[in-house]
Amino acid sequence: MRSSLAGRIALVTGGARGIGAAIARRLHEDGAGVMITDLRAEDGQALAAALGGRVCFMEHDVSDDDAWRAVIEAVVSVFGRLDILVNNAGIYEPGGIADASLDDVERQIRVNQMGVFLGMRHAIAPMRSAGGGSIVNISSIAGQCGFPGAAAYVGTKWAVRGMTKTAALELAPDHIRVNSVHPGFIDTPMLDRNPPETNQAGVEATPLKRLGRPEDIAAAVAWLASDDAGFVTGSELTVDGGWLL
Ligand code: NDP
Repeated sequence: MRSSLAGRIALVTGGARGIGAAIARRLHEDGAGVMITDLRAEDGQALAAALGGRVCFMEHDVSDDDAWRAVIEAVVSVFGRLDILVNNAGIYEPGGIADASLDDVERQIRVNQMGVFLGMRHAIAPMRSAGGGSIVNISSIAGQCGFPGAAAYVGTKWAVRGMTKTAALELAPDHIRVNSVHPGFIDTPMLDRNPPETNQAGVEATPLKRLGRPEDIAAAVAWLASDDAGFVTGSELTVDGGWLL
């Protein structure tokens, strides 16, 4: 077992499946206690049970301020502290500026942007008590360029990138590091929102010529969460097989 995170406590949102599940699994393998949260209670509970000791699940909507309060209280009451927050939960609703439904636009802003904002805000107090911490926000390559047909999603992912840098400046005096990770095309259920030809074109435009695996993203997050990244804050780590080049 790797042990770079021994004694640390992590909270992973949207951790019931996809990238979040791989992150929870990896942080647990690296020695951390993990609170997984998600809307998908059944999948989340099953994952927590499969991982075993020092992993819990709690149902949680990241766009809900009161729900965040309850989750942080639960983490501190079960594990005694919070060292690592991974703001991973996100939704993707394709739609261009001319035709996207305003409900979809608003929902993406609430989950992808407000959810990350609230997570960072609620993590500050327990991380101050712990003497510092590491926040990793999952943005996207869609937070580093434009994507026709996904204006609202792109806007929220650029917002995550900007909030990350601002939080890194605000929280550095508290020894809280804040970084963003920018996945390329990763093989999770989220890609089902695209027509197959869009994903195929994504692979063809990827110099490494494959979809990313959730574990590729989990490895980047584990590094940013660890003391090996102790001098890294406000950075954006692109994990896309070279797609953006
Ligand atoms: P998935 O859809 O596979 O998993 C996301 C999980 O988050 C789901 O269980 C989902 O539940 C949950 N979730 C959605 N809304 C909320 C909410 N309000 N509160 C709590 N949990 C919620 O997505 P991925 O694993 O692919 O994506 C994870 C992150 O990575 C997202 O932020 C995404 O934008 C980002 N990303 C993904 C890429 C990819 O190619 N897959 C590329 C770049 C970035 P439910 O299914 O019920 O909505």
